[in-house]
Parts: sequence; C-alpha cells; structure tokens
Amino acid sequence: MRTDVIRKSVAALRVEPNLKAGDMAGASFSWAGIRDELGVSPGSPMNIGQLAVDRHAHGDAGTRTAFRFLPVEGAPRDVSYAELARLSNRFANALRSLGVGRGERVFVLAGRIPELYVAVLGALKNGSVVSPLFSAFGPDPIATRIRIGECRVMVTTAGIFARKLAALRESLPSLQHVLVVPEPDGTPVPAGTLDLAELMAAASDEFTVVPTGPEDPALLHFTSGTTGTPKGALHVHEAALTHFATGRHALDLHADDIFWCTADPGWVTGMSYGILAPLLHGVTSIVDEADFDAERWYRILEAQRVSVWYTAPTAIRMLMKAGPELRRRFDFPQLRFVASVGEPLNPEAVWWGEEVLGLPIHDNWWQTETGGIMIANLAAFDIKPGSMGLPLPGVDALIVRHADDGQVEIVQQPDTVGELALRGRWPSLFRAYLGQDERYRKCFAGDLYLTGDLARRDADGHFWFVGRSDDVIKSSGHLIGPFEIESVLLEHPAVAEAGVIGKPDPTVGEVVKAFVSLKPGFEPDDALRRQLLGHARKRLGAAVAPKEIAFLPTLPRTRSGKIMRRLLKARELGLPEGDTSTLEAGA
Ligand code: ATP
Ligand code: MG
Repeated sequence: MRTDVIRKSVAALRVEPNLKAGDMAGASFSWAGIRDELGVSPGSPMNIGQLAVDRHAHGDAGTRTAFRFLPVEGAPRDVSYAELARLSNRFANALRSLGVGRGERVFVLAGRIPELYVAVLGALKNGSVVSPLFSAFGPDPIATRIRIGECRVMVTTAGIFARKLAALRESLPSLQHVLVVPEPDGTPVPAGTLDLAELMAAASDEFTVVPTGPEDPALLHFTSGTTGTPKGALHVHEAALTHFATGRHALDLHADDIFWCTADPGWVTGMSYGILAPLLHGVTSIVDEADFDAERWYRILEAQRVSVWYTAPTAIRMLMKAGPELRRRFDFPQLRFVASVGEPLNPEAVWWGEEVLGLPIHDNWWQTETGGIMIANLAAFDIKPGSMGLPLPGVDALIVRHADDGQVEIVQQPDTVGELALRGRWPSLFRAYLGQDERYRKCFAGDLYLTGDLARRDADGHFWFVGRSDDVIKSSGHLIGPFEIESVLLEHPAVAEAGVIGKPDPTVGEVVKAFVSLKPGFEPDDALRRQLLGHARKRLGAAVAPKEIAFLPTLPRTRSGKIMRRLLKARELGLPEGDTSTLEAGA
C-alpha cells in the first residue's frame, strides 16, 4: 500500500549502512577527518589520480577489478587496480613525452571505452586538467568547448576525429596534440594525429605522480545546458574528499560492492561517480559501452550481480515505459541500493522502484558546480517519495529569499519556497566559471552559494525540489513549480513523460501548459486530454492544474536526459531556441 513515507528498518538491510541516524548530527564528521582517512596529511600534496588508483594498486587490493567494460558485443574486459595504475602511468608518461605538463588542459572525447578512463586518470596523475566532452556532440559544441577550455591535448578515436574534428583543427590554435585510439583493423591514424596505442607502447609504466596541491585545478566540467549556454565549471584536486565522503554516505559504497553508474563521463555524474568515487573506495565498477536498452540493462543487473546502482530519472521513466513484464524475466537479488540524480524524481518513480524493482529509488540532488552529492535519500533513512532527502554530513543547506533591497535572507519557516543555498566552502565546490568571472561571483552572497534552484525544507529537515528558478510559473499571484504538476500527470497510467511551462497570459500572468508523451497503447485524443485535465484538477486544484495539454511523441531533452522546458516554452511562443548544443538528436 502506498503511504507518505517508505519506512526503513536498519535491521532489514542486507549490509550495515555506512550512515545511521545518530551520525547525522554532524559532530563526528569533518573534512580533515576524511583527508586523514585518505592518507593525506595537512599541507602535503594531493592528487585525485593517485588517491583513486595508486592507493589500491599493490598487494591483494591490486588484483581486484577496478572496471569491467562491457562492449556493445563480445566478452567483457576486466581491468584490475594494478593494471589501471600501470596503464595510467603509461598515459602520464606519454603526455610528458609530448611536453604536456601541470595545469595544461587535456580533453577526452570518446565513448565509454577503456582508453578514455585510462587517459582521465593518467592526465590527473600528470597534474593536467581533464575536461570530458560527451562523444555524441557535433563539431560546433566541441569547438566552442575547446576554445573556452583552451584545450591543448585531445584524446579521441580515429572515427570521431575524422567526422567531427579534422575539418575544425585549423581554427583551434590551442589544440597542439590529438591522440587517437586507432581503428581495430590496423588502418593508420589520420594525418595530423598521433597513434595513442603506439605512444602507450613506447611509454614506461612507472611514473612519479606530480605533487599537485589540494587547490590545483583538476577537472573542467561543462554544465548540461538545460537553462542556457553551458558553463565551464572548474574543480580542484581536493574535490576527491567530497567524492570519497559522498560515495560512502550517499551511495553507501562498501568494499565488496559491484557498482554501476549509468552516466556517461562526458557529464559530471559520470566523472565524479562513474570514475572517481568508486575508485576512491576500491570497488568494482561496471561500464556499459552501449546505449540505453531496457532489456540489456536488466540483463546487466542480473549477469554482473550489480549491488549498488546509480542512474537517472530519464532512464527510470524509460524502464517504467517498457512495462513490468520485462523486469519479471530477470532476477537480480544482489541489488541492494538504487539511487538517482539529474532531475527531480517523481514519487511515481520511487514507488515503481519499490513495487517493480523490489527496492525504492533514492533520489539525490547536486549540480556540476557542487562537484558531488549534497542532498540525498540515504540507505538507512525513511524515504518521503518526491523529496530529495537530507543534507549530507559536511553540507549546510538552507532556503533563502531575495529581499527587495537585494539582500539575501535566510528563511527559517519550514515549508516556505525559496532559493536553495549552501553555506561554506566544501572541497568539491567549483572554483570558477571559465571566462565568466562576473557570473561566478553572482553565484555567491557572503558565505552562501546560491544554486539557482527553488526548493522548500519541511519540518523534519527534508528538502523538496520545486523547480529551477527559470522554470517556475507565476500565475494569479501563486508560484507554481513544474515538478509538482508533472508528478501528478505521471500518476496517470497513460503518461510516460510530462513537461510543464508557464505561458504568458494578460489576466493571470502565466497559465500552466503541460506537454505530455504517452506510453505504448494510448492514443493522443481529446477524450484522453479531458481525462488528464480532470485528473490534474482533482489532484492539484483549479488554480495550479494545467489549462492546456499538448501531446508530443517525445519531449525535448538534453543529451544527459533532462527535459528542456525552456525549449518547450520557446517553441510554444515562437521565440528563438537559444543554445541547443546539448539537445538530444531528433528532439
Ligand atoms: P545548465 O546549468 O547549463 O542549465 P544543468 O543545471 O542541467 O545545466 P547540471 O549541473 O548537470 O546542469 O544539473 C544540475 C541541475 O539539475 C540542478 O541544479 C537541478 O536543477 C537539476 N537536478 C539535479 N538533480 C536533481 C534532483 N535530484 N532533483 C531535482 N533537480 C535535480
Ligand atoms: Mg545548472
């Protein structure tokens, strides 16, 4: 039976959770304590690549599988911690042989192939700054990011180079070296590029990690472009402390876990949690090189004995759409913890987890800028479906209001909607928006980082996402968050996806309009439209319910799977679409 809260009993959990109720008081947590645990003493060098890989490369730990790569077809390839240490050393030496050093930018642009993971870790050990680009980007978004990031080295495949980079090369003066993974058939690499396999073969597998400091830049991540032109957020080596702590607290990683983060390393989730956090914990990660496919994904959960799974609402909605019969053909009793990030997770999806997967889904919240998970539903804690959960140890989350005089005031009253803010400076907080100093400064008010998301905190301290400030709808004096309306529409059995916008209206300011895509077997007709309008009105009341519903085959999404409400709005109003560099193909 569905209730407001999914109760947890620690005694019923299969493993002792890393974080229990008593630990949330915060007294036992400090970033210095986390640093000590990673074996870094105050004032000494710190390098994410070394902490993630080399720390586990010796003795028995070294034999453990770090990554199991599942190619689109064929047998898995396992890479142990010891092998990963040697391979990343080779890559670091290869960079050094080209004269690429500390602070220089190394970009990676490839599918989820082993070479990409090796390059990321080797470049970090070399003290270079790594920037991953999503492999499906077209030439323009690639060129823009190369320019903003002053990319010196690009690691890619021969195929991607030929299709997307060769023609641009001349217009990118910073780009000195292109290292390509050669085609398997032995074709020589394209003119003007270097053969990565040859460079690796010629390099030594011993390397002394560059002694970067905690504040040295390590990673450059471009945001998803959901609200506008993507920003380049810069992170430092010290961010490893957050990756480690949140892997423990939010994902409940234990040494013997088989972990699967489905995000692509082209986005921050795929870097922080697809590469770094699991390595920092010495666990085994599954990397699937193929695109989403419901049946394949269930098979991976079963065959790879995944125990902790970190995915996204868009994937969960697609699994929901594929129906419960498919899920019943697979058995994955090892799976013990499921988490989601990237967009709000509708209560319907949390319940689907509980009822169809057999485990509730734990939503968590963070951003490219925060570098790691900040607010989360946790293994040992009750879940209120629809809530993002509680701030993690070391995170001070608040709701603020912008007063008329420009001051930022902290809101104490529970259940008041305001901007979500985070107080203090934590290790993985971004240190710059590259080339946009003013915009960076505007994200801060004193010791507060302003997230640009609207939320509320309830009397128990749980945070609830309301919407991005850009997406919030103002109607007849009400502030309406699209998330709440979308969640209600998703309750209807016909609805696969919903995106809600405010449409300017002379009388009430904005009226709510919903765009809906349907599950297989449902027809987009007037009868269904009336049914959905009626359902929403009953659940939300006339003031908040949509006045209009339009059916679309699919909703426009970013390549990382987020619904782009700003595009729904621009298209509705006939306005320019703005930056669409991250728009999913065909949307
Ligand atoms: P851009 O800043 O370029 O518009 P983006 O904000 O989508 O893109 P990311 O940093 O990848 O880029 O995404 C972070 C944002 O995603 C958050 O600010 C929030 O709006 C949304 N988000 C992430 N996780 C959640 C969640 N669990 N619940 C609600 N929203 C979430
Ligand atoms: Mg953002």
